[in-house]
Amino acid sequence: MRLTEQLFVTLREDPADAEVRSHALMVRAGFLQKLSAGIYIYGPMLWRVLRRVEQIVREEHDRVGYQELLMPALQPRELWEESGRWDRYVQDGILFHFADRKGSEVCLGPTHEEVITTYVKRMIQSYKQLPVMLYQIQTKFRDEIRPRFGLMRGKEFIMKDAYSFDVSADDMKASYEKMHKVYCNVFTRCGLRFTPVEADSGAIGGAGSEEFMVDAETGEDAIAVCHKTGYAANIEKAVSQIPAPDAAGDAVEMHKEPTPGAKSCEELLALFPNLPKTRLLKTVLYSATYEEREETVAVMCRGDREVNEIKLLNHLQAHSLELADEETVRSATGAELGFAGPLNLADGVRLLADQSVSGVEGFLCGANETDAHYLDVWFGRDLEQPETADFGVVQEGDQTGDGKGVIKITRGIEVGHIFQLGTKYSEAMDATFADKSQKVKPLWMGCYGIGVSRVAAAAIEQNHDENGMIWPLSIAPYAVHLVQMKAGQEEQDVLSQEIHDTLQAQGVDVLWDDRPKVGPGAKFKDADLVGIPLRVVVGRDAGDRRVEFGCRDGEGRETLGVEDVLSQILHACQEAGRA
Ligand code: ATP
Ligand code: MG
Repeated sequence: MRLTEQLFVTLREDPADAEVRSHALMVRAGFLQKLSAGIYIYGPMLWRVLRRVEQIVREEHDRVGYQELLMPALQPRELWEESGRWDRYVQDGILFHFADRKGSEVCLGPTHEEVITTYVKRMIQSYKQLPVMLYQIQTKFRDEIRPRFGLMRGKEFIMKDAYSFDVSADDMKASYEKMHKVYCNVFTRCGLRFTPVEADSGAIGGAGSEEFMVDAETGEDAIAVCHKTGYAANIEKAVSQIPAPDAAGDAVEMHKEPTPGAKSCEELLALFPNLPKTRLLKTVLYSATYEEREETVAVMCRGDREVNEIKLLNHLQAHSLELADEETVRSATGAELGFAGPLNLADGVRLLADQSVSGVEGFLCGANETDAHYLDVWFGRDLEQPETADFGVVQEGDQTGDGKGVIKITRGIEVGHIFQLGTKYSEAMDATFADKSQKVKPLWMGCYGIGVSRVAAAAIEQNHDENGMIWPLSIAPYAVHLVQMKAGQEEQDVLSQEIHDTLQAQGVDVLWDDRPKVGPGAKFKDADLVGIPLRVVVGRDAGDRRVEFGCRDGEGRETLGVEDVLSQILHACQEAGRA
């Protein structure tokens, strides 16, 4: 492809709103253009990348027997009422929904469990038809609170979603394991370094789930890993053994201490310099929203630990959870913010405790009175230990749950998520089959997503330098960047044309920079920016049929004969599955 025949515009400056490199570089290279927050035009170069990713996804799904279909993006409200998800998604604010001209409500699909379950239940009668394995690649819509980082978190993005339907829990697990392998293959082929981690299932629901995290400092997710034991879990879900609390001295009587203005742990520790942080118990107030009611929840937690809101939400089985606002805190505690404690909370406030408080003796806690705390409080003597569970955030240096290793916190970009759904949707939506003895049973489902557009962004987060993107060969927009130093110089024209045509004929796609009025410096700058992985430079040795060949990252650059270069390129492209 001749560059002069393409719309090719690159920018010198990073866009002002780009917080991560992948976003900035894609915009500068003309891959991506913002239409409004979280809504982007995918330019021709990016579209080539996305089609490559899709192709890998298709091949790996087809290989294990998945069939591709395409479902509508518009989904009627009734389906979401059937599954019971409409209210939750509307309350969350994530759902784009509106009424059609007849007043029927529809949403733009953020995910497709309802539609696929409807489709399959109308097709399936008997166990003989199972398993069924289907997938689609389609645009999804989510009204994200914080659309950002370009392709990473859009309001509109491309997802591959697959669904499996089985006769039993065991078969569902087998389908899930099969998909785990498919995902490993897909991400490996896309040239990504990634870690599968245990995950929270969130609003999708079901029993087990795993996320595939691309290792990247800029990732939005924190991950707890232990290289020794192989443990890896999203921090939302991770568990650990936490260090024991410091022991208390003598069991003196509980007493009130004036703590004017001391609201944070740091301010309190300054007032009580001899008190270890593990004997300071904070009480954090939340407002939980359920289908038909709200509840104020107070959670006790050790001063050196944090509350994990996802674990708390799951325990409460609430729709959503947020930190209580000032007014709620005042009416629950009778005090200003910062003095909440477990004693004398208002009626109706539900008191819980994180497991970190177990075994803490003679502690300090809020008195539910402005400018006051209680000191030397003991569970069993001054109050019963409230309902206690693991509501804590795992921290670096904690022991793994099995006590055999130490946890490290790293960051990642979630590019895929696989779920064992069980019968959550099939029971709610009456999707059944007749087993061998004609007994009617619900289908066992799994669902599996890959953020196709996010994969492209993640690849660049992992592979770039100060000059631009460096695409993995398997998903690069073109395999070869052919830089002609001086367009119009006859020997260079002829050799470039030959290289271009030979490679194209072999199925290797080439971007040929044949711009006549652009100097070599600017051409190399652009080539570095767009990051096509293999580079051929046709210059002054063209008459001798010699060219410079190397990789975008500068590796192995040398001047070689054309035939040698052509065969090396073909070989590399075949290895990467693109010729
Ligand atoms: P996140 O936690 O990042 O919001 P999610 O857990 O809600 O994502 P899933 O429902 O698991 O997302 O969707 C499957 C995949 O789709 C994710 O693993 C991710 O790669 C991708 N994805 C989800 N939301 C977005 C988005 N707003 N923009 C781009 N890709 C997304
Ligand atoms: Mg997810």
